Amino acid sequence: MSRKIIFATGNAGKMREIRKIMGDMDVEILSMKEAGISTDIIEDGTTFEENAIIKAKAIAKKTEHIVLADDSGLEIDYLNKEPGIYSARYLGEDTPYDVKNQKILERLEGVEEAKRTARFVCAIAAVMPDGEVITTHGVIEGRIAYEPKGSNGFGYDPIFYVPEYGCSSAELSEEEKNAISHRGKALEAMKEELKKRM
Ligand code: IMP
Repeated sequence: MSRKIIFATGNAGKMREIRKIMGDMDVEILSMKEAGISTDIIEDGTTFEENAIIKAKAIAKKTEHIVLADDSGLEIDYLNKEPGIYSARYLGEDTPYDVKNQKILERLEGVEEAKRTARFVCAIAAVMPDGEVITTHGVIEGRIAYEPKGSNGFGYDPIFYVPEYGCSSAELSEEEKNAISHRGKALEAMKEELKKRM
């Protein structure tokens, strides 16, 4: 029987991404729902890494398989790295992203290009069946654009300008974005860590 990894997410896009990246490993990857696990997790860490560990440990209490969890967000230098770990909660969890994005553009009104630097950050934590905790990181550097563009992706993608592609991350295909994204890089790094242990 192949080994199982539970990925602590309900997001279908994240499940597609992890299955693609870890597709060449002899593991079965299940979402929490597929594994029949549900739990309320209070993400009260102060860093992406702490939050990813909190999530992974909470799920690991309910299964004997490897558990992975991620935490990610947008850091804007001009706003002292806001919204950071509060990216999902910024202006309220249920506020639509076109409103959140517009607010960020307003807060950066008149700010020159060189000072609009920002990055998406992702931390992934794994809890192994023997209790070992592993963490990896990924970052994609960019700038806050002057207006929202594109309709792919989610969240802050329409206002995140990716210099190497010359467009917003919402203008990239899922494949293009995964190849350079914070989560793609963190998952690739985690795959290498898991390979060493399997
Ligand atoms: P979580 O790690 O899924 O909880 O994501 C935290 C929040 O960070 C999301 O709700 C988005 O607001 C933001 N975020 C993380 N990754 C991305 C991305 O790739 N594009 C746009 N927004 C992102």
